[in-house]
Amino acid sequence: MSLSLRQRLNGELSRLQAEGFRISLKVLEAPQAAITRVDGQEVVNLASNNYLGFANHPHLKKRAMEFLDIWGAGSGAVRTIAGTFSYHQAFEETLAAFKGTEAAMAFQSGFTANQGVLGSLLQPGDVVISDELNHASIIDGLRLTKADRRVYKHADISDLDAQLAAVRTEGLKLVVTDGVFSMDGDVAPLDRIVPVAKRHGALVYVDDAHGSGVMGELGKGTVHHFGFQADPDVIQVATLSKAWAVMGGYAAGVKDLRELLINRARPILFSTSLPPAVVGALVGAFELIQLEPQRIERLWENTHYFKQELNRLGFDTMHSQTPITPVAMGEAEAAFEASRALLKRDVFAVGIGFPTVPRGKARIRNILTADHTRPMLDRALVAYQAVGRELGVIR
Ligand code: PMP
Repeated sequence: MSLSLRQRLNGELSRLQAEGFRISLKVLEAPQAAITRVDGQEVVNLASNNYLGFANHPHLKKRAMEFLDIWGAGSGAVRTIAGTFSYHQAFEETLAAFKGTEAAMAFQSGFTANQGVLGSLLQPGDVVISDELNHASIIDGLRLTKADRRVYKHADISDLDAQLAAVRTEGLKLVVTDGVFSMDGDVAPLDRIVPVAKRHGALVYVDDAHGSGVMGELGKGTVHHFGFQADPDVIQVATLSKAWAVMGGYAAGVKDLRELLINRARPILFSTSLPPAVVGALVGAFELIQLEPQRIERLWENTHYFKQELNRLGFDTMHSQTPITPVAMGEAEAAFEASRALLKRDVFAVGIGFPTVPRGKARIRNILTADHTRPMLDRALVAYQAVGRELGVIR
């Protein structure tokens, strides 16, 4: 007899439980902000990607409501049928101007942007060389292609160089990297990656989900930080859900990239376009960063302060260079236990273990935002010191 649905579900969930990988959801009971509520408690929130504190900002809400009022609740179709509105086009022009590229194409998420762009661009015979720590949406996007896929050691330029030297193809060579790595918080060394790629005739694809709004002038991203934004052989993909605090993703680059995406990208052809309120809130986000650029300075001040104080207490923040601040915990169980102990002390920071990160490299991942105040960070540091001592992570 074949398995019933209940048997399959039960088997899988029991297996996850036994291996220690079963996830239970943490529910937020107040809006996304530096202080929020979890399990009925007010907590210092070190778990979100709300880098600039825009998620619940009145300006974004106002613009969302205006768009809702004018354009309605839904877009009603995919982009290529009846789902491209003048608000999409205008927003994409804003994005391209902001990024300093010829054109931009919006997607429903950063995840679908990676699927759409990699899937549209790559053909059989092309060779992709991808950083081993790249995000799951890149890995899945590449799996959907018939290109030859290879992996280089994390941010290792000599490995990348050697692998590129070994490639024989008449097609495209593409180097793919995150701009800022989402678990370690280090920055891709584009100043070395781009020249090495060029030397071998390869293009560079940067997923800057965590660099957008964080790196470069006005948060224009990691590619801008390194000055490659006008390079036609550098493709930029990013999310609109982290620093820009709403939902969506985009690709920015040359005009014909946008044209190809309109013709080939499956999320553009087969999935409904971004609704008015989402685009309205995003328009608000790009207005607000021009009005309040000092938010980026506050984000970085908080980042430096928190990292320096954690290190002073004896914690290992690994090789993070950005607001993503891991605290090394060793095995997954220690990270999960520390996270539970922090929550008891009103600090919300998530433990991350295998398979999201390698075995023995479990950590608590903290993300700083512009809206954290010194007293909030000091409260979190007091909790960290107590938990670190209890668990024997620091002395
Ligand atoms: N790329 C990277 C590097 C990410 O960290 C994320 C979000 N976790 C994504 C893509 C997906 O973005 P989104 O949440 O907009 O789908």
